[in-house]
Amino acid sequence: MARKFFVGGNFKMNGSRASIKKIVEDLNDADLPSDVGMEVVIAPPALYIHCAKELLKNPEIKVSAQNAFPKPSGAYTGEIAAPQIKDAGADWVILGHSERRTINKESDDFVAEKTAHALENGLGVILCIGELLEERDTGMTLVVCNRQLDAVIDKVKDWSNIVIAYEPVWAIGTGLAATPEDAQSTHSEIRHYLAEKLGEDQASKIRILYGGSVNGKNAKSFNACPDIDGYLVGGASLKPEFIEIIKSRE
Ligand code: PEP
Repeated sequence: MARKFFVGGNFKMNGSRASIKKIVEDLNDADLPSDVGMEVVIAPPALYIHCAKELLKNPEIKVSAQNAFPKPSGAYTGEIAAPQIKDAGADWVILGHSERRTINKESDDFVAEKTAHALENGLGVILCIGELLEERDTGMTLVVCNRQLDAVIDKVKDWSNIVIAYEPVWAIGTGLAATPEDAQSTHSEIRHYLAEKLGEDQASKIRILYGGSVNGKNAKSFNACPDIDGYLVGGASLKPEFIEIIKSRE
């Protein structure tokens, strides 16, 4: 079964009502490939999820949150619950992004707990994994990715609503994207590891996105990589070139 190509746009803590309206209107007006089995998901800051959802005219484009706390409600000041994310109109949540793992000190276990909770509450999860530069330089890429995956594998058996985003931390926001050969090789190793842990059938269906300095110019260069099932795009998702990235598979 072919895996549906997936392009996610992570706006991070950027944008205003006006700028997000403009991005959504540009997406509405874009002639996006509709017959190629493509999934497009935008992740504005939580404050703008509802507004983005209301403005989107293309039902093929879904909305994601950038984080969700692993409790349904309660005394957790400043946090956002999965049921609230659903209520605001989003279908997805990004979890385990390297910025949250490093700046907010989120552990593998906490990311896994959040993943299990988000899935139980009906959200799809874009689960980010990836190594730091020093880990890559010391040959630890797969050790790190497998460790991050293991935490989730311990808590989640059904991965049908998880999309993995392999995002080498050294490539995020740096302009230094992984080469298609390096990214393909890591994606293939990740899929083998998933097959060992979850079985061939599940592993063959899980989409593995590449993230890290994907832009309108380099997106096409990953087209020939059989284990790259789409992209998680940060900076470029705020720009008109996001549409070029979506169209890169045409
Ligand atoms: C990201 O933040 O998920 C990301 C991939 O960022 P960028 O595309 O800007 O490297």
